[in-house]
Amino acid sequence: MEEELELSGAQWAKKFPGSEDTRYLLGNFRLAVEDFLHAMKEAGIKIVIRATFRPPKRSYLMHFAWRIAKKQLDPEKVPNMQGVNINWDHGTKEKSVNAAKEMLPALNIDKQVIKPAIRSQHNSGLAIDMSLSWNKTIELKDANGNTVKINTLPRNGLNKQLIAVGKTYGVQKFKGKDDPHWSNNGF
Ligand SMILES: [Zn+2]
Repeated sequence: MEEELELSGAQWAKKFPGSEDTRYLLGNFRLAVEDFLHAMKEAGIKIVIRATFRPPKRSYLMHFAWRIAKKQLDPEKVPNMQGVNINWDHGTKEKSVNAAKEMLPALNIDKQVIKPAIRSQHNSGLAIDMSLSWNKTIELKDANGNTVKINTLPRNGLNKQLIAVGKTYGVQKFKGKDDPHWSNNGF
């Protein structure tokens, strides 16, 4: 029997929702993240969590919607994923690309400049995406109880002093650049 396929489009973003709650992170990593978040809050850092656990099926949608929308991959060449009965091919290239473009804001990746990973630490509950900001020199407790002055720029998640403190908690900044991604191992 042939599978019933549904054309790609923004409605797909609701089918495999991701989480923004730390309670869906895994075991010790959850504890590490919550301790780090607590210390950052105490220091006056503004935190906006964008993503924690993400089902593999959502990563599949993000990865291929992004590549089709950026015209890096032909819609008919996308591999299938079991349990995701999506048809990326709307018959014409233009319609297929437009449908993929529609999916980007729905999946919160319309501003993403790097191709979303097809597999990531999010799929195992071992990563968190968060926007961080503050507006003056702050004092932040590391996991060993030391108070660390954060007095360099930038005042966001790319700050090297902040990244060093995160590491003491076991929360490591993504090794690439320009991304709000932290994980158990930096990947
Ligand atoms: Zn991430």
